[in-house]
Amino acid sequence: MVSSSPFFQTKIEFLKGVGPNRALLLQEELDISTFSDLIQHFPFRYEDRTEFHTIATLKDDLPSVQLKGFIRCSQSPSVDRGKLIASLQDDTGEIKLIWFQKIQWARKQLKPGVLYIVFGKPTIYRGYRALVHPELAIATPEQLQQAVIPVYHTTERLKEYYLDSRGIRRLQKNLITQLPTAMADSLPSYLQQQYRMISKREALINIHFPENPTLLERARFQLKFEELFYIQFQLLQLRQINREKHAAEIFNDISLLRSFYEKQLPFALTQAQKRVVKEIYADLRSGKQMNRLLQGDVGSGKTIVAFLAMLIVLGSGGQVALMAPTEILSEQHYQALQQLATDMHVRVALLTGSTKHAERKKALEDLAAGTLHMLVGTHALINEQVIFKNLGLAIIDEQHRFGVAQRAKLWQKEQAQASHVLIMTATPIPRTLAMTLYGDLDISVIDGMPPGRQPIKTFHYYDAQRLRVFHFMSREIAAGRQVYVIYPLIEEADKLDYKNLMDGYESICRAFPDTPISIVHGRMKAADKDFEMQRFVRGQTKIMVSTTVVEVGVNVPNANVMVIENAEYFGLSQLHQLRGRVGRSTQQAYCILMTHYKLSPKSRERIRTMLDTHDGFKIADQDLRLRGPGDLMGIQQSGMPQLKIAELSQDVKILQAARQAAEKIIREDPTLDRPEHSSIKRHLDLIYKHKENWGSIG
Ligand code: ADP
Ligand code: MG
Repeated sequence: MVSSSPFFQTKIEFLKGVGPNRALLLQEELDISTFSDLIQHFPFRYEDRTEFHTIATLKDDLPSVQLKGFIRCSQSPSVDRGKLIASLQDDTGEIKLIWFQKIQWARKQLKPGVLYIVFGKPTIYRGYRALVHPELAIATPEQLQQAVIPVYHTTERLKEYYLDSRGIRRLQKNLITQLPTAMADSLPSYLQQQYRMISKREALINIHFPENPTLLERARFQLKFEELFYIQFQLLQLRQINREKHAAEIFNDISLLRSFYEKQLPFALTQAQKRVVKEIYADLRSGKQMNRLLQGDVGSGKTIVAFLAMLIVLGSGGQVALMAPTEILSEQHYQALQQLATDMHVRVALLTGSTKHAERKKALEDLAAGTLHMLVGTHALINEQVIFKNLGLAIIDEQHRFGVAQRAKLWQKEQAQASHVLIMTATPIPRTLAMTLYGDLDISVIDGMPPGRQPIKTFHYYDAQRLRVFHFMSREIAAGRQVYVIYPLIEEADKLDYKNLMDGYESICRAFPDTPISIVHGRMKAADKDFEMQRFVRGQTKIMVSTTVVEVGVNVPNANVMVIENAEYFGLSQLHQLRGRVGRSTQQAYCILMTHYKLSPKSRERIRTMLDTHDGFKIADQDLRLRGPGDLMGIQQSGMPQLKIAELSQDVKILQAARQAAEKIIREDPTLDRPEHSSIKRHLDLIYKHKENWGSIG
């Protein structure tokens, strides 16, 4: 939302130079239907046109250059066998201008005796210096002054209708000229002064048509700040509302925790684990609902932290729930918790889609009666019939697979007092992104690994070296270990990928005729998948050939080799998650990345990053840089706002400043009643009214 002025709600077809046909195209191709949409179609880069070259000094290897000159008047441009050739002359020499398309249009533009500015990449055409399809403009004083030219994204279809970057630039010019002189600023003036911002109007003008580089920089800052400020503001408001609305029970009896800690703790906690337990305890005894995200790399030891949190609640008389995204994971959690809970007089039950009717009935009854303390399961847990006597803490593991809506549902159906909520994720989200995605949550991070882990050895092999890899696999299997072989399945429905997997499976079967092998993929029924997974978990099969279904947190400590086929098709974060499936014991673990011989520079960089580092956060940061936030695993489902101008991988400082400003305002003037905040109020109303970007999060 640009501004509350009705001007910006004008339909794009009413802009000079648009009309109904182009309006439809703009809508279809770029989702631009109002003035507001167009003006927020920001340039993705700029060309510096301060410099003019002279024709005599041109070299072929130059990028695009700008020249000033006259069309030679001795002859009119000649149209010849489907092309138009003209000559441009300056004081130093002559160069050909060539058009193979839009010849009639170009011909009309060219007038002898007029000073032109042309822009294009120098090449050689039939032995002559030439510019092919140059940009061309009459050199008005204004044009000669224009320093920095905006470049816009466009599409092939739009180009057919002369809406290439230049065409869009013309539309932007038309729009900017009509900009209302009085435009409300959405940020309070004291913030604008503090950050020496220019007005919104000036920012919009300069982001498209920068008067000079300084103003461009300031326009960028202003627009990014504003964008991030409003995202943060909404998230913080939401968090505020959550807190105010939801008083939660105080859980402060830690005798059970203490007794476990002293007698049964299987290992010493790391510093990071201790810190996070303290953070959680502070929430649990605060009387306000906890909404906390626990981030920890794969294998960092989140389970024990979750268990300790549960013990605080159980010891204080509450019940706890743990929800995981798949049956296998639920089962694993269930077993781990049962083991941890031995001798604690804590009763645990498992509830998934395949729980037998009788067991289910019993569990639900005991849950309602309060004699069952801990329930583990899949999203079956948020089924209407599941009623707790007193659910004190809900823990959600690997939250990315659930999406935000389910997160909300879990606590909304609850009793008079809200339950505390802890969300655990193994997807390392860069801090910047976490702040934006989860600004409504408090964040805890387990940033260290348990001691004694041997780093996973990672290797890169080309497909042609497969025999060596098979050899290595058989050695490890002979030593009693298990192996994953993972195939990419970008689209579950894609036949080619499926064939890839099946071919791979067959060749592995041929290479390992005496080894029991499992296969799991998306086309199998859930029950069959589970059955195969369980066989592998129990060690009955030695090789697990699978699509990426195993990435979500399965724990098979005996598996120590991870082979990833077509590794170039995976994103970095995904590769990292997959690698995290091995190295879960004291055994040396290996990750083998198989790729085609030919690799794009980006793929090569991804592979190199995997070989170089094990730090999930570094990897996620790199992923963000290489692919952009939209591609980070699971982000699509999680309500990530579409940013128009800010870039999370680069604008950390601005994000922090915007967040601080938003925090301060919410703290000091939560209802925005102070006159200096009326502009924020107005702008937020507008945002909520238009439900722009994202209707609701949380
Ligand atoms: P994740 O964070 O991926 O869920 P887990 O909780 O499954 O990790 O822990 C991975 C492994 O590390 C488990 O086998 C667990 O018992 C072990 N572990 C966790 N914390 C520690 C610790 N402080 N010291 C030693 N081993 C630990
Ligand atoms: Mg886990």
